[in-house]
Amino acid sequence: MVGKTLFMNHRAPANGRYKPTCYEHAANCYTHAFLIVPAIVGSALLHRLSDDCWEKITAWIYGMGLCALFIVSTVFHIVAWKKSHLRTVEHWFHMCDRMVIYFFIAASYAPWLNLRELGPLASHMRWFIWLMAAGGTIYVFLYHEKYKVIELFFYLTMGFSPALVVTSMNNTDGLHELACGGLIYCLGVVFFKSDGIIPFAHAIWHLFVATAAAVHYYAIWKYLYRSPTDFMRHL
Ligand SMILES: [Zn+2]
Repeated sequence: MVGKTLFMNHRAPANGRYKPTCYEHAANCYTHAFLIVPAIVGSALLHRLSDDCWEKITAWIYGMGLCALFIVSTVFHIVAWKKSHLRTVEHWFHMCDRMVIYFFIAASYAPWLNLRELGPLASHMRWFIWLMAAGGTIYVFLYHEKYKVIELFFYLTMGFSPALVVTSMNNTDGLHELACGGLIYCLGVVFFKSDGIIPFAHAIWHLFVATAAAVHYYAIWKYLYRSPTDFMRHL
């Protein structure tokens, strides 16, 4: 068994949560805190590049999901680090941290589902993904931390099922980047599940999330919105 060090604690017991070391706590906070401002700026940029009302609304939805993920995650990790004695508060923020992931997945797909032409059956995914996010939220309320494997299964199901629809689109521009981001998320899950086995595992997971989110943002910015040069020309 790997011993306790400054950079890693013992693994969590089956019914409990992993307790990060001070250094791990700090890394967990900073790895997402530094992304809050870029997320806000990136969202505002998409809003600026919108051509019509539907693109604007979609930029809002996607931007809110993106910003909420990093803000809620940062706040939760600060509370877990500095206010862990307030058990109920920490528990509540941990629930928010988990719920926001469902909405983040829905928001990440929203630009592709909203702004690309879809078949009659596939277009139902536009609302179904939000139903899944709502279902995930209810699950967190009822069974938070009880069945971790089921939780992971829900995240992966929600992450993969819209991909089936998206890959069937006529216009396939950007799907390569979309898949690439998805793969980065999946690789990151290895670290998400490695607390107490790999030092700074959770912070490394955060970096995978940040990289995948950046790849997805790039694809949305490049393929679904007006190019900035085109935008400047029309000023
Ligand atoms: Zn985290």
